[in-house]
Amino acid sequence: MSSRLRLPPLPSIRDLIRLYRLRALRQLSQNFLMDQRLIDKIVRAAGRIKDGHVCEVGPGPGGITRAILGRNPEKVVVIEKDRRFIPMLELLTEATDGKMDVIIGDVLSFNMEKMFPEEMRLDWESHTPNIHLIGNLPFSVSTPLIIRWLHAIADKGNAWSYGRVPMTLTFQKEVAERMTAPVTSPQRCRLSVMCQNWCNVQHVFTIPGSAFVPKPDVDVGVVHFEPKIEPIIPLPFTMVEKVVRCIFSFRQKYSIRGAETLFPVVLRESLGLEMYRLADVDPRARPFQLTVGEFGRLCSAYESICLRDPRLFRYNSRSSKKDSFDEEGQLEEGQPLETQGVSSVL
Ligand code: SAM
Repeated sequence: MSSRLRLPPLPSIRDLIRLYRLRALRQLSQNFLMDQRLIDKIVRAAGRIKDGHVCEVGPGPGGITRAILGRNPEKVVVIEKDRRFIPMLELLTEATDGKMDVIIGDVLSFNMEKMFPEEMRLDWESHTPNIHLIGNLPFSVSTPLIIRWLHAIADKGNAWSYGRVPMTLTFQKEVAERMTAPVTSPQRCRLSVMCQNWCNVQHVFTIPGSAFVPKPDVDVGVVHFEPKIEPIIPLPFTMVEKVVRCIFSFRQKYSIRGAETLFPVVLRESLGLEMYRLADVDPRARPFQLTVGEFGRLCSAYESICLRDPRLFRYNSRSSKKDSFDEEGQLEEGQPLETQGVSSVL
């Protein structure tokens, strides 16, 4: 017996787009996926969603939404920013007898902490809950979104207050490759370390740009993320992000060059070396040669150095204000840093 939900006969997505004169807005990077086989493949990449709760982000005219509904979830909630899609999404809501809710809003500022039933919350260490986030969003949205969501995963907030909720999202193919890039690979970057620290990441397959209407200039990678029970670096997101960002700021140089920018200029050389010595990491390794574990040891070393003078945590070489330090390592009130007890670490 088929477990698929049979939707009542509906006009095709192509006909609906024509009917509502819905031109994809280039300025919103709207590209619609029309190939049913590929749509089904994206939904299959999410795993078993039957009887589960699904949140689809950026449903547009609802092609992927129909495939999700066809796999018989208990409930589907879609979050769409562009009001022009309301009639098409409401058509689906009516066809499914309340199985689907439409939220008009911006997924970047949406909090899913109360979106799913209370009884679906699971301990973080337990198996993944039957809740799934799926989306084919514009690339300009999907990359900042995954950074926000990794932050939420680290804090066990937003949708991750329900446990280790998996995500299946699309990105520009090159970005998908960077997210999954292993150590020493040419694509290894900040995004690889951040994604792989908190999630098991899989680039499931690639969709040629030609499958979309209108055709984007690039191919699209479908990526599945499953939050890890224990991140490799069990430290706050903002600290990990800061250390990894600084270290990758000079990709081709020795990694210590980027790490030194974590510290005010006068302390850079000594604290940089101390950080690598404490972490037992080779300062001449290039950023892309460092494992996530080595980044973890560098983060811990950075933390222990900062704990001696917490003002170091706030130092940011890119900020114009630089908190209480200026580029020369002077305090705002003009006192040299060395007189504030930092000299003891030199
Ligand atoms: N999912 C549909 C498909 O695959 O055919 C549409 C894909 S289109 C690339 C991206 C969709 O995301 C558009 O409908 C767009 O309006 C919507 N979108 C863009 N930014 C958004 C945001 N910040 N929050 C929610 N939806 C957004």
